[in-house]
Amino acid sequence: MVNSTPSSRRQFLKLSGLAGAASMLPACSTIAPSNAKPTGQAKSVIFLVADGLCNGTVGLAHHWNLRNEQTPLHWIQLFERERLHRAYQDTASASSPVTDSAAAASAWGCGQRVNNGAINMDAAGNTLKPILSYAKEAGKATGLVSTCRITHATPAGFATNVPNRGMEDAIARQYLEREVDVLLGGGARHFSQKQEDGSVIDYIPRFKGKGYEVVTNATELNSVNAGRGSPLLGLFAHGHLPYAIDRKHDSAHQDVPGLGDMFRAALTRLDTAKDGFVLQVEGGRVDHAGHANDSAAILHEFLEFDDCIPIALEYIDAHPDTMLVITTDHGTGGCQLNGAGAAYADSGPALDRINQFKYSFEWLHSRLMATGQFDPVAVKMALGIDATPEQAAIVQAAIDAKPQYLSGSFHEAFGKQIKDLTAVGWSSGNHTSECVELFAFGPGSEAVPSFVKNYEMFEMMTRALGIRT
Ligand SMILES: [Zn+2]
Repeated sequence: MVNSTPSSRRQFLKLSGLAGAASMLPACSTIAPSNAKPTGQAKSVIFLVADGLCNGTVGLAHHWNLRNEQTPLHWIQLFERERLHRAYQDTASASSPVTDSAAAASAWGCGQRVNNGAINMDAAGNTLKPILSYAKEAGKATGLVSTCRITHATPAGFATNVPNRGMEDAIARQYLEREVDVLLGGGARHFSQKQEDGSVIDYIPRFKGKGYEVVTNATELNSVNAGRGSPLLGLFAHGHLPYAIDRKHDSAHQDVPGLGDMFRAALTRLDTAKDGFVLQVEGGRVDHAGHANDSAAILHEFLEFDDCIPIALEYIDAHPDTMLVITTDHGTGGCQLNGAGAAYADSGPALDRINQFKYSFEWLHSRLMATGQFDPVAVKMALGIDATPEQAAIVQAAIDAKPQYLSGSFHEAFGKQIKDLTAVGWSSGNHTSECVELFAFGPGSEAVPSFVKNYEMFEMMTRALGIRT
């Protein structure tokens, strides 16, 4: 497996030499493909996005990694890398200082801010041509990789046009019609869609008819990794992929690929594209763990994303005509490690106590719903906490009366105890307005200003590629 171990982190240190909707559809297909050769200096673009990454989450993970792996995060090492161009990024949408992922990905994807919820469509209903359509017309290959449903807002923002991000069946159809060359993630349910009358609209045979290889687990993904160059559809979960922390500890998930596995497979495929490619890779569930205020899950999601950074750097070192962007679309949850104890002396040990959490709240949720019974063993396994009768009663009441409140009941029952244990606090279960870090390398990165508005990145990328005149 790929770059998920401490030794691979050290290995990288050594290698790098670092010290330390259909009717409104065809925005692309109505326009005749131009045969003009791209004139930019970047042959390809790799866009890595950790969805919903608060500055506070970076801080927490930074100190966790120093204490537990004795090395800085790859994210932190980027600051010491030569020829880095970095920016402080304003993440607002057209409708709010606090963006959602649809509007944020659209801003990057089409160069215009749209309202929260929309994907590459303005308030008047105009479709805004996304970057992957420009890339395709210029003869470049295209790819989307995510730990979320691949039809989720962030990948969709580079390739589709829908008025509402919830139209994920339409997004899957647009991927098929627009022939995105590599699609790896979750969301199988939107590719074989159950209709109300019980019939199924199945896009999989249509993808295969267009020459796609279709894979559904890590073993199959590895076995097609020969760089044959045919398009590739990998759907590894009905919904989102399981959290990294759950994939690590629950053997039921052992044949689900990680983000790094999918990223490498995408690069192997796209590298064969003669005229380059545009690839977005999303660590999508950092955001979900933020919404859930799940400290252990968010740490492991971000660490998995962090392990993709050396994969990208290795690629651009070997292919210097590649522009690399690494960033996030917004903060989620306002995660922070707080001062704890006299003179804050307990903050470090508190941070280490995150290690007692072995599974996400989501895992615990499905475990309890499977039996309909509060299970102290499952709670101990997941959170390392011996539940009191009062805590058990709160959770059992939610299982019995309002299962949709089950996650909320975890917070009610265990939230204060977890906060006292880990010193990790949250400002909300929502997105935040904070400005965020953006790293850029390679051709075109020198044009990124030190303060950048999210929508300006579209111009930077398309100009670097020379795909929009
Ligand atoms: Zn979110």
